[in-house]
Amino acid sequence: MSFHNPIGSGCRRDGGLMSTLAIVGASLAGYSAAQQLRAAGFDGRLVMVGEENRLPYDRPPLSKDFLTGRLPAGELALADQADVDALGVDWELGRSAVALRPGEAAVELDDGRRVEADGVIVATGARPRPLPGAERVSGVHLLRTMEDAVALRAELVSGRPKVAIVGGGFIGAEVASSCVELGLEVTVVDSAELPLADVLGSRFARLCAQLHAERGVGLRFGATVAGLVTDANRVRGVRLADGSRLDADVVLVGIGVRANVDWLAGSGIDVGDGVQCDAGCVTSNPAVVAIGDVASVYRPELGRRVRAEHWTSATQQASTAVNNLLCGYTAHEFRAVPYFWSDQHGVRIQLAGEPRPTDEVTVTDGNVAERRFLAQYTRDRHPVGVLAVNHPRAFARARRALARHPRYVPI
Ligand code: FAD
Ligand code: NAP
Repeated sequence: MSFHNPIGSGCRRDGGLMSTLAIVGASLAGYSAAQQLRAAGFDGRLVMVGEENRLPYDRPPLSKDFLTGRLPAGELALADQADVDALGVDWELGRSAVALRPGEAAVELDDGRRVEADGVIVATGARPRPLPGAERVSGVHLLRTMEDAVALRAELVSGRPKVAIVGGGFIGAEVASSCVELGLEVTVVDSAELPLADVLGSRFARLCAQLHAERGVGLRFGATVAGLVTDANRVRGVRLADGSRLDADVVLVGIGVRANVDWLAGSGIDVGDGVQCDAGCVTSNPAVVAIGDVASVYRPELGRRVRAEHWTSATQQASTAVNNLLCGYTAHEFRAVPYFWSDQHGVRIQLAGEPRPTDEVTVTDGNVAERRFLAQYTRDRHPVGVLAVNHPRAFARARRALARHPRYVPI
């Protein structure tokens, strides 16, 4: 089987005959790319290489309903078996890509085999940053994979451990909320003054802090972690730079991620804080595109690259990248209003756009005290973002309006 470039997808010239494509990373972005390729009519060989020895699954529940026990592992699959089969993918699961041949699209696997391909989609995501010195201490957890979540949950439901969370970002906030649901005593430590202030601005960051406090989460913001307290290699607490100590039987570290780019060393592909892509997710080798958490995509309106670390961009970038790969050049640029949601303490927070902490913010619908409202962010009277708390329908309308707004400033 082979494939000539996609008719009607906007290409102006022939991208060449492609018979095999390799997708490296078998998670949300990789699976979305496989779907997009088949939807675009690619009927050649599709090989998907995935380090985790399981079919693609959804990560968001790992910090939420999976951790509390409300959602079993079986419900996390990204697609049912019939849909997976219909994609006609040659799976290489439990296998890592260890190299990409310079100037080629051949992927080397950790068992010494090579996947010869005409094009490669890099979708290797990111991994959590460890807390220095805590890597091998028992009772200290990171959270990215199903295995991580299974291990963390096992400790949370055995006895009534005291939990300390280092990092008050998305992982920290959502896991703290899950710990409360499990009836556990939990404290969050972060060097910032307020949770998620860079993302939401200080007004709504204060609301997040209030939600934590109302549910009994201990907050140690503006605090620096100096190290761990251990006993026979088992964690017993967290030492703070001010000399104080938090007792803890379990410590979760959620201090951000690093893009999985190490395997591309020596490939000739430009990497930095992610795979360096143009505005169409195409790398310095036109036969290689990158998407999802690993991709650092050029944003013309900003004049720099940005790595998005949220679910929706991983799926949206797939369509742009796949079309450009099939075209053989950057026929399309990735343009979408960034979006994420987060569930914490019984409220759903949704944000579209990229507001800055200094933007003006106005509540336009609902009531903050009732924890159900819509707010608009503006900068010099230009709309730059919308936020909703427990107001999904109003948010859906406002998000569409933002994307269409002639004066929307996407920075
Ligand atoms: P990943 O999901 O990281 O997948 C990359 C895959 O590539 C992994 O399976 C990895 O093992 C594999 N891989 C890495 N290196 C190699 C290699 N060399 N060879 C082969 N395979 C390799 N976003 C939201 O918008 N809302 C949420 O509520 C939300 N909740 C989240 C909760 C948790 C606990 C986590 C961890 C993330 C959450 N996110 C959320 C973020 C979202 O899940 C990610 O943005 C998304 O998973 C990115 O998908 P990806 O496919 O790019 O990367
Ligand atoms: P994150 O959202 O980047 O937050 C990391 C937090 O840790 C920040 O508040 C950071 O503060 C703080 N921090 C960094 N170093 C620290 C240290 N040494 N001690 C104490 N605090 C420290 O990353 P994350 O929460 O670890 O999440 C990991 C990934 O999963 C991200 O890509 C995230 O987007 C994704 N995720 C998304 C969702 C969602 O969208 N709902 C949910 C879960 C996970 P500073 O900013 O001040 O450095």
